[in-house]
Amino acid sequence: MGPTIFGCQAPDTGNMELIAHNGTDEQKEKYLQPLLSGEKHSAYSMTEPHAGEPGEFICAAKRDGDEWVINGEKWFTSNGADADFLIVMAVTAPEKPLLERASMFIVDRDTPGVEIVRNVHTLGTPLRHNYKLTGGGHAYIRYNNVRIPRSALLGEEGAGFVGSQTRLSGGRVHHAMRAVGVCTKALDMMCERALSRKAKGELLSDLQMVQQDIADSYIQLKQFRLHVLYTAWLIDKTKAYTREVRMEIASIKISAAKVNHDIIYRAIHLHGALGMSNETPLGEMWMAAPQMGIMDGTTEVHKANLAKLLLRDYDACDDLFPTYHLPKLIAKAQDKFEKVIEEYVA
Ligand SMILES: Cc1cc2nc3c(=O)[nH]c(=O)nc-3n(C[C@H](O)[C@H](O)[C@H](O)COP(=O)(O)OP(=O)(O)OC[C@H]3O[C@@H](n4cnc5c(N)ncnc54)[C@H](O)[C@@H]3O)c2cc1C
Repeated sequence: MGPTIFGCQAPDTGNMELIAHNGTDEQKEKYLQPLLSGEKHSAYSMTEPHAGEPGEFICAAKRDGDEWVINGEKWFTSNGADADFLIVMAVTAPEKPLLERASMFIVDRDTPGVEIVRNVHTLGTPLRHNYKLTGGGHAYIRYNNVRIPRSALLGEEGAGFVGSQTRLSGGRVHHAMRAVGVCTKALDMMCERALSRKAKGELLSDLQMVQQDIADSYIQLKQFRLHVLYTAWLIDKTKAYTREVRMEIASIKISAAKVNHDIIYRAIHLHGALGMSNETPLGEMWMAAPQMGIMDGTTEVHKANLAKLLLRDYDACDDLFPTYHLPKLIAKAQDKFEKVIEEYVA
């Protein structure tokens, strides 16, 4: 509820950034302003049922006179069934290199041809909800000859994947910020429970293993929160998704999944049977925790990207032993100081 009340809910915030960075004046007036004021809601339609990897996308848009025609399938479009409009990533030049292959379009949800096949829900929601075509969920959408005007193109033609980074990068920071909120709440619950519940005559808060869990959670959350704040500060400072910024965003997206998992797990465990019940917010938090490692790029993909970006600062050592090999450093130091020492001793 919190993010929606304060207007920082996914997927709208990422889409706000996307339109703010890439939209025309007309698009900003028609879509961005109502998003900011909470009058409209949006969805981002990129992942396809057969692939989450952009190089594999096949949903395509072709030009026909003054219109674009979209055909294909998308899935896990969060809020897709309820949104007023969808931002759709579609292949517009399949023959081109990956970064020039796709474009983004703003499609009003009620455009003829937009078919909600199912409204897919996440773990724990009964399957029957997937057949109700409203009420949250992550829509499986079929675009059947969806005709939109040329003005629906968002950003440059062919710049979809590059442009999407403004959405995905910002969206990842927002996910991390929401994780700070959720984990803070979980730690608060943990502490209240530890001070209130007894086992064998002792308060849980007096048991060392409970204290260890509380301390570990506090440290993990504090470090994570500061890293998120640092990343947000860096974005404000650079006003661009530079390599340094992208490294920090990947790092906090990776940490968000781990911190969420670890702290919510400890909070549930400390609550015993109550933690496993559906009578606290913990159950819902736990069901949502693994999502953090999947949505907006999986942990493994972010780790691979982070390592690649980091490694650019280093050079290989072409000697048999590395530059920091101690015998080599001693020999080098001896070479450098031999004469000085000889003179000193003499
Ligand atoms: C709650 C939720 C909301 C979402 N909302 C949206 C949305 O609004 N719009 C949208 O377009 N999409 C959305 N998605 C989809 C999400 O972006 C994709 O699930 C994600 O990009 C992963 O793609 P995939 O599911 O096809 O997994 P796959 O790409 O099939 O990955 C499967 C597994 O393979 C691993 N893997 C893949 N590539 C590599 C690699 N290079 N190295 C190592 N391991 C790898 C992954 O880490 C993962 O464990 C959402 C997903 C979730 C869970």
